[in-house]
Amino acid sequence: MAKILVIGGIGDGHVNPMLPIIKAWCENGDEVHFYSTEDARSKVEATGAIFRPFANFLGGVRQEDISHFLEFIVLLLNSADQVVPTVVEQAQKEGYDYVFHDSLFGWGNLIARHLRLPNIASHASFASTGKKPKMAGDTLMKQVVDLLKGGKFIPEIKRLSTKFAETYGVPAPSINEVFCQTGQLNLVYTSTFFQPDYDRLDSSYVFSGPSISKRESLSDFSLDALKGDDRPVVYISMGTVLAKSEHFFQLCMDAFRDASYQVVISAGRSMDMGLFRNAPSHIIVRQYVPQLEVLQQATVFVSHGGMNSVSEALYYDVPLVLIPHAADQPIIAARVDQLGAGVVLNKSQLTAAKLRDAVNQVISEQRFKRSATTIGQSLRDAGGYRTALAAAERFRQEQGIK
Ligand code: UDP
Repeated sequence: MAKILVIGGIGDGHVNPMLPIIKAWCENGDEVHFYSTEDARSKVEATGAIFRPFANFLGGVRQEDISHFLEFIVLLLNSADQVVPTVVEQAQKEGYDYVFHDSLFGWGNLIARHLRLPNIASHASFASTGKKPKMAGDTLMKQVVDLLKGGKFIPEIKRLSTKFAETYGVPAPSINEVFCQTGQLNLVYTSTFFQPDYDRLDSSYVFSGPSISKRESLSDFSLDALKGDDRPVVYISMGTVLAKSEHFFQLCMDAFRDASYQVVISAGRSMDMGLFRNAPSHIIVRQYVPQLEVLQQATVFVSHGGMNSVSEALYYDVPLVLIPHAADQPIIAARVDQLGAGVVLNKSQLTAAKLRDAVNQVISEQRFKRSATTIGQSLRDAGGYRTALAAAERFRQEQGIK
């Protein structure tokens, strides 16, 4: 029986993929201590793990407010002092066997080195290859502007990484090390086919695909509304994290008011539903819907390009229209576009006509569905959390952990 220190990330997208793995460890009799922000407590405890909170070091900063990748690096560097001392101080008294940690948030790699423990990293999005990823909407001009905008963050990054090196007695981390805390074993919840530049990654990376399982229903939406009607179903959601945009949903209503589709909109829990007062009967709007069930009825998914949403759609062979906003969404959208499983739209130039045209195109041209099915097959074949669990088991044996 092992005693395991888990440093979860912040937000559902980072915590959820770790849950089936730690549930299996707990069922196996292992003792798991899981650090994350307070909002993750109930689902972590439901796995049998002991929950330990750390402060939300993102401090309420919203994804879309981070103007540049390097500004995000500053935020991550600043987060170290808020999480590392708390966890290390408590961990020193515990005698853990290994660390399982998110690759982006929480400094798991540094903590594992401090405690001289083996570590497994959990990569909630694509694994970082160290190569600049292709971004949706990248043009040479945009890249030059981006480079110039990023310059102002460099002095602060230098100052913080020097301070970091002094505080923690380690070499100053590179930007890639700040952004990606790797493990001796790296679990990635996609397929080798969908992962960009897969051949740049070594054999410590194991690809399990997403773990899709039945979820507790958090919605009053009934699928009966879609049954007995053979019109294509257009599903629209901008995920659970982005700030709510009345403007975007108004644009959706304009785009599909006269369409011969059924449209399901997940508008978000903070959306004022008064906006949809005059929605025609073929546009069904809820604050939250059972996404996995809706996707199994959907012909196309209009999404912000969150890793979970995109993986879930492709898992069910549903092609996409993507409107990336922030974080890893432009990278995920670019990969979907590259593999031909959808169309990417620029959010700042979006109009109702562009959205309608893109949806019509994805529905009418079979090539999008075919590409989505190819990726979907690769995700299903990857084996889900059991693949990740088997890799972790091999790792434990190699490390002599019972
Ligand atoms: N989701 C859902 N119903 C909704 C909206 C979202 O079940 O009405 C789930 C969705 O299935 C996915 C997650 O919320 O698992 C959203 O994660 P994603 O990474 O796509 O986006 P984020 O919310 O992190 O931006």
